Amino acid sequence: MSNIYKLIIIGSGPAGYTAGIYSARAELKPIIFSGPNSGGQLMNTSIIENWPGNKEGILGPQLMMNMREQAVKFGAKIIDETVGKVDFSGEPFKVNNLETETVIIATGAESIRLHIPGEDQLFGRGVAVCAVCDAPFYKNKTVAVLGGGDSACEDALTLTKFAKKVYLVHRRDQLRASRIMSQRVKNNPKIEILWNSAVTEILGENRVEAVKINNEKEIKLEGVFLALGHRPASDLFKGKIQLNERGYIMTNFQFSKSNFQTMTSVEGVFAAGDVVDYRYQQAITAAGMGCQAALDAEKYLTNE
Ligand code: NDP
Repeated sequence: MSNIYKLIIIGSGPAGYTAGIYSARAELKPIIFSGPNSGGQLMNTSIIENWPGNKEGILGPQLMMNMREQAVKFGAKIIDETVGKVDFSGEPFKVNNLETETVIIATGAESIRLHIPGEDQLFGRGVAVCAVCDAPFYKNKTVAVLGGGDSACEDALTLTKFAKKVYLVHRRDQLRASRIMSQRVKNNPKIEILWNSAVTEILGENRVEAVKINNEKEIKLEGVFLALGHRPASDLFKGKIQLNERGYIMTNFQFSKSNFQTMTSVEGVFAAGDVVDYRYQQAITAAGMGCQAALDAEKYLTNE
């Protein structure tokens, strides 16, 4: 008979590794499929100043390496492979060629990027995707936020606390954001909205120095924040568990079926982090959900 694992975790961002640490300490001997991009989105960031406990800040890749080593230290086994197929139609569940009693999906999400000239080269050097994280670096500087949704508005407002001028660059003549957020942005004297506009190029040698708008006008600035929404990494699970209309995995706290807040529409399959959470999308909130999912899986296995 083939080996049936107690828990397989798919994903290796803060949610996946935290689930790994908790479930390994609970002696579930978890397997973590770390995927093509081990460490998740934080591998693309530099200093993280809002991770509690590291008062001087910590580099994103360092934080993720620490989490990985911590999970391994307690007995998690990491497989550096991509999961290409899952079968949740009956127990045991199948993940690639392995069989398991429970699964935690922590595949994360990615920020939508434009891939315009200059963007990839200057990513992390003035091009950023998290205003909450990076705004304090832009004291008395000029920045642009790209997008017209609630995130863009929130990012623009956050940045006004530090920057001297914030351009909100939106491709249409109307914001997608809620009325209240739109109004706040429009009322803020530091924000200038550039309607019907697209950043077509980001310029700079080693750091962002300017952007080109609609292939014409150039604006000098120091930071470009992409707030174009996120895409959850949930394609593999379409038709297998319930997703919402935007592709995020639905968990019990949304349809309150049982006490397992992180359980998906399939009993025994749990989900955590940015593949579930379209609202907060922070490393610390993802890690918190990873902890919840591990506790839920452990309790579920005990009940079974
Ligand atoms: P949204 O999908 O709502 O908005 C994305 C914005 O980016 C849109 O304005 C869209 O333009 C623009 N965009 C997308 N792709 C491109 C592109 N290729 N080129 C140019 N512009 C582009 O994402 P958000 O992250 O803003 O919000 C996600 C969800 O989270 C929403 O439900 C939102 O309400 C919620 N949220 C709520 C907050 C709050 O209540 N304070 C804060 C943050 C998020 P267009 O409008 O033309 O489609």
